[in-house]
Amino acid sequence: MLDFADKVAKLCLDKYNSLKKSGKPTDNEWTVLSSIVLKSGVDELSVVALCTGTKCLSGKELTSTKFEERGSRLSDSHAEILTRRAFLRYLYSQIASVLKCQHSDIFILNDKGNITIKKGISFHFFSSQTPCGDCSIIPKINTSLLDGNYHPSKKIKFLNKRESAEIEVGNEVDDIHRTGAKCISTDERQDLHQPGKNYHVLGPLRTKPGRGDRTLSLSCSDKIAKWIVVGIQGSLLSLFIPMIKLETLIIGGECPFSIESMERGLFKRFNSDIVRPNIIQSSISFQQKKGGSRQNPCPSSIIWSSVPERDLEVAAEGRKQGSTKKKPGRCLLVSRRAIFKEFLEICDRYSNSPLPLHPKKITYFHCKQWSKSYQKLWHEAKVTVFRVWPSKPLELQNFTL
Ligand SMILES: [Zn+2]
Repeated sequence: MLDFADKVAKLCLDKYNSLKKSGKPTDNEWTVLSSIVLKSGVDELSVVALCTGTKCLSGKELTSTKFEERGSRLSDSHAEILTRRAFLRYLYSQIASVLKCQHSDIFILNDKGNITIKKGISFHFFSSQTPCGDCSIIPKINTSLLDGNYHPSKKIKFLNKRESAEIEVGNEVDDIHRTGAKCISTDERQDLHQPGKNYHVLGPLRTKPGRGDRTLSLSCSDKIAKWIVVGIQGSLLSLFIPMIKLETLIIGGECPFSIESMERGLFKRFNSDIVRPNIIQSSISFQQKKGGSRQNPCPSSIIWSSVPERDLEVAAEGRKQGSTKKKPGRCLLVSRRAIFKEFLEICDRYSNSPLPLHPKKITYFHCKQWSKSYQKLWHEAKVTVFRVWPSKPLELQNFTL
């Protein structure tokens, strides 16, 4: 498994190094790099989406966004979340190829004219550091109390506070790595902020770290937990293609990591018994991660998808770099609005489109509701697993093209 993890990590870092400098951190900045790798055939690997990013708009910035920018400005620019969006662009481009009867690496049209995934295809996620939120609450081991045979996973107990009342970590742990992500306000469990291991409570959904005004976006741990349940294709694409799940999650080397915390953050805290991805830490690390002289988060992002045209974009503050509030410019190709446009183009071409109305007549939000099987699964997950998942402000999704 480590071999595979290192192979994937190296491939992603090589791809990153091959991209031009614009949008990458300067010498005193750090960033997070995430990426999705396609595995096909026996051992053929290729990067299909790759992004960097550390920023997230505050609730105020988001809701004060001008009407024309609704659906075009990104609220969440953490690398993991951008990577899923860049991956959606890749999927749309692959769907377009198969509908034009051209070669697609991952899809085929079956006898009934439905799009299916080729056999032997799998997707693997790489991220240069542990996702923010619950997964990042990691015990720091006090080695002076250990007998030399210590393994963190043996000693640290986690109890879901919904069923019991305590966080339990072994005596060997007197401190934890912290996350800046704050518990959502509708959860009765809130951080204790006591020194050492009692700083955080484990289990609740959290909003993204950020100074000042709180963000409306959930932490990456929470969002990845959602992908594990409903897939990474999202509701719109569920109208065309089967669910796509990540088979492996690989975290870069030399960063705080614990398999126990990852498993807790991604599924154990929700008591869900779904098919779980393999989780592994690679021994290869990302050069531009936080540490040493790199103490400031890089404000810009690079967004790359394996598509024939306009594969690379640079973003800042949720917009294309260079555009401002006064001069919005072209919207990012991974924004809701641009992705919705790709969706409409596919609808026009796809004879098996399940939409009863032409999507131009309905809003983005309403289109998503047509994806019955996806919505059913997500609704069930919200009732049974993610009980207090907050919804995005409707006004950001209520747009037509
Ligand atoms: Zn994050």
